[in-house]
Amino acid sequence: MNMENIRPGDLEWRCQKCGGNLEPAMVTVEYLGNEFTTELPRCPRCGLVMISESLALGKMAEVEQILEDK
Ligand SMILES: [Zn+2]
Repeated sequence: MNMENIRPGDLEWRCQKCGGNLEPAMVTVEYLGNEFTTELPRCPRCGLVMISESLALGKMAEVEQILEDK
């Protein structure tokens, strides 16, 4: 299982919507019209996905690099 996108601290967060515990889940994210699947902390109750700002910025930079390489 690829856990590189989840730091242990991320799973200590609670869902901002319903207060449920976040669990790692494969999530499809769309960015600049391209879809990619990554593992992110997700609320199993309501489906809210927690994307921290640093993770989002790092992941988006990574995706931009992938797109540039094509
Ligand atoms: Zn929730």
